[in-house]
Amino acid sequence: MTNTTDDPANVDRFDVEAVNSKTKRVMYEARKKIFPKRVSGTFRSLKWWVMAVTLGIYYMTPWLRWDRGEYAPDQAVLVDLANSRFYFFFIEIWPQEFYYVAGLLIMAGVGLFLVTSTVGRAWCGYTCPQTVWVDLFLVVERFIEGDRNARIKLDKAPWSVDKWRKRLAKHAIWIVIAMATGGAWIFYFADAPTLARNFLAFDAPWVAYSTVGILTATTYTFAGFMREQVCTYMCPWPRIQAAMLDEDSLVVTYNDWRGEPRSRHRKRLEAEGKAVGDCVDCNACVAVCPMGIDIRDGQQLECITCALCIDACDGVMEKVGKPRGLISYATLSDYAKNQAGQDTPTTWRSFLRPRTFIYAAFWAAIGIAMLLALLMRDRLDVNVLHDRNPVFVQLSDGSIRNGYTVKILNMLARPREFRLEVEGLDDARLIMVGQDSDAAAVLDVAVGADTLKAVKVFIAVKPGALAGKRTKFDLVVREKDGGETTSYRATFEGPGES
Ligand code: SF4
Ligand code: SF4
Repeated sequence: MTNTTDDPANVDRFDVEAVNSKTKRVMYEARKKIFPKRVSGTFRSLKWWVMAVTLGIYYMTPWLRWDRGEYAPDQAVLVDLANSRFYFFFIEIWPQEFYYVAGLLIMAGVGLFLVTSTVGRAWCGYTCPQTVWVDLFLVVERFIEGDRNARIKLDKAPWSVDKWRKRLAKHAIWIVIAMATGGAWIFYFADAPTLARNFLAFDAPWVAYSTVGILTATTYTFAGFMREQVCTYMCPWPRIQAAMLDEDSLVVTYNDWRGEPRSRHRKRLEAEGKAVGDCVDCNACVAVCPMGIDIRDGQQLECITCALCIDACDGVMEKVGKPRGLISYATLSDYAKNQAGQDTPTTWRSFLRPRTFIYAAFWAAIGIAMLLALLMRDRLDVNVLHDRNPVFVQLSDGSIRNGYTVKILNMLARPREFRLEVEGLDDARLIMVGQDSDAAAVLDVAVGADTLKAVKVFIAVKPGALAGKRTKFDLVVREKDGGETTSYRATFEGPGES
């Protein structure tokens, strides 16, 4: 039996399909397309600058060169996967130094806490890649299809030659930008000029093509089609940042105590002596919003605090001869005080409070600790493995001999000469296996730039030099002509008391 009314409550309880279809209609609302209007003002200018700087950094960084000598790549920023190395200008990070990367990630996290607790979702509104690329795609869209009203009209218009031409041009440029975005990413992982040549000659590794393909598709889809839905439905940050905001965090606020009651007929109502607020209900703040929300409805999860509505409303206020700031950056505590008629220009309070000091101090402490560790870190390391079979050998002259594999890691981008010697074993003699030379008190070892070299070494001592079955000693690796020295505490095995 099928119910003919539109009210889901009246649908026959046995007609499950009909109930589902009615419920869906009630619970699911299709996405409304957003056509943000162009706006000018202080925050829009700031966003243009941030966009230019962030895009410039992203696209240009792989092409910066940094001279590290003939033994290391000259790309300033390079994640060298093939050799497990990360280069950042004068810094070179080895896999065992990954804690520096972990430290940077922690700093980025704490920095985000600091920014959010002071200026709200400034990251989302200005520097998040999703925001920056959507802005870039919107520039193309406006250039080809016009501003908000023209785009709405074109969207509703039937398909014509003009509509096809504009849509094809827009999507073609979007795809080029998306490909450039994916292309720039792979240049961080190999020498950019070489990879670019190989890529264009279809001679690059397949992973380069697949990475560019995936990033092209995601950039095109996220910035061209999904836009605000990525922020609202896919990104966890809006939920997390809600826990970091408090009454002293700066957020974009509609001062309804000043704007309400809103009216499009303010002058007439004022002439009639009726109470009327400053909001002229022009909808300019809604028209420019890239998230399609009305800030006059209060704080909303969707708001990325891009402040474009502030620019739009300030422009309107200037035209109607009212003070700017009907929509403004304000803290919740300022809002309450302003509402109560107190003048509270206390933006500084958002920055100068215990919470931000703690975040800033934590952030700075990690940064200083990492900087000191970076300046003081060793560029030389040694590891020693004792031969297990046999543990020791007694030579014909009565000496006891042990075998070791000595691994010397030279973490500088130039070859170095080292001297290997023993401390703690009297009259120890060293022999390098495979070298036709006599036993000596020291051995010379040359290690290439950025190289781990393993050498097999025998150490022989007179039995009288041993304190017992096991004698501890230091294998010292000293850079010739001064420089770094490091050592390894090793064990010499002997027969002991017989
Ligand atoms: S409400 Fe204003 S600040 Fe929030 S996203 Fe929209 S334009 Fe940006
Ligand atoms: S732009 Fe300002 S005046 Fe216009 S509707 Fe928005 S809050 Fe009101």
